Amino acid sequence: MVEAKDGPHLRVGGRPVLSFASNDYLGLAQHPALIRAAQEAAAQYGVGATSSALLSGHEAPHEALEHELAAFAGRPRALFFGSGYMANVGLVPALVGRGDAVFSDALNHACLIDGVRLSRAESHIYPHNDLATLAQQLAASKAEHKLVVTDAVFSMDGDIAPLHELLALCETHDALLMIDDAHGFGVLGPEGRGTAAHLGLDSPRLIYMATLGKAAGCAGAFVAGEASTIEWILQRARTYIFATSTPAMVVQAVRASLKVIATEGWRREQLARLINRLRAGTASLRWQHPASDTAVQPLIIGDNADALAVMAALDAQGLWVPAIRPPTVPEGTARLRISLSAAHSEADVDRLIQALPR
Ligand SMILES: *Cc1c(COP(=O)(O)O)cnc(C)c1O
Repeated sequence: MVEAKDGPHLRVGGRPVLSFASNDYLGLAQHPALIRAAQEAAAQYGVGATSSALLSGHEAPHEALEHELAAFAGRPRALFFGSGYMANVGLVPALVGRGDAVFSDALNHACLIDGVRLSRAESHIYPHNDLATLAQQLAASKAEHKLVVTDAVFSMDGDIAPLHELLALCETHDALLMIDDAHGFGVLGPEGRGTAAHLGLDSPRLIYMATLGKAAGCAGAFVAGEASTIEWILQRARTYIFATSTPAMVVQAVRASLKVIATEGWRREQLARLINRLRAGTASLRWQHPASDTAVQPLIIGDNADALAVMAALDAQGLWVPAIRPPTVPEGTARLRISLSAAHSEADVDRLIQALPR
């Protein structure tokens, strides 16, 4: 349990801990501008939205945020959800159903998997980033509507999906492509506009989803795409329709966060410096450190007990780095998931490098 926090510097069980466990990639969760925005909105709108968006829960801040999110993501329209989990379990069933087919990367996030299950569409899991298998599955499918879903940046590896190639396959096979940019939004692309902007991806087939509880430092998520697609989702996504709308104080904090993400480019530069520093520091270790340009840096230990032992050794030195084991990651790839933040200093990263057992 975290008893106090100042960026990555926490107090846990009465002792100081340096955390590499948070997804606050830009260090915005305690940014003064975001806190002020939330406080002012609480004073004006209260702390609860009081009903769902389609009743009276859609307030002026929500409307403004949806326009700003659409502009930020470079898509015609956007819809705000209470969380990324809610977005994904609402979106997939809104887009495909019985008689349709959905194609999902084997390493997709749990909430995409749940969305696929809830949709009742015929589901095809393709091996991680395996375009050839996906192409075969798409070609063989006789389904009326086809949807390919993938993490844009994979949450346990930090690698980026081959989105241009996936989009080309979707063009060939008349499928939609939905990407979950939980770990790219705010971090990748010009002004942090995300993985689609980073790769110059643009297509009416593209449905862009991202979360606002990670780099944005707040809570919530959104989907952006063609106006007609978003209207369809608004009418059909049960987690949008039947959930109480998000408090305006959170919404106003997200709006403040979007401004900071775009204007404080030094945070992405700091993150890039820290990534390089960490990678240089782990090069001489006996474990693999697969390529990742994102804040998610996996150190593959392999054996479960070994991963736990390394985590415990770091913990004894006041460092919190989570060990991730199967079934969250494939068998034999237990790892430390080192999560960097612009709020870390070079000295923080050096401390971690020094503490890793050799
Ligand atoms: C964290 C995460 C989610 C869930 O988002 P929340 O806003 O935390 O519910 C969805 N997809 C991916 C890839 C994630 O990493």
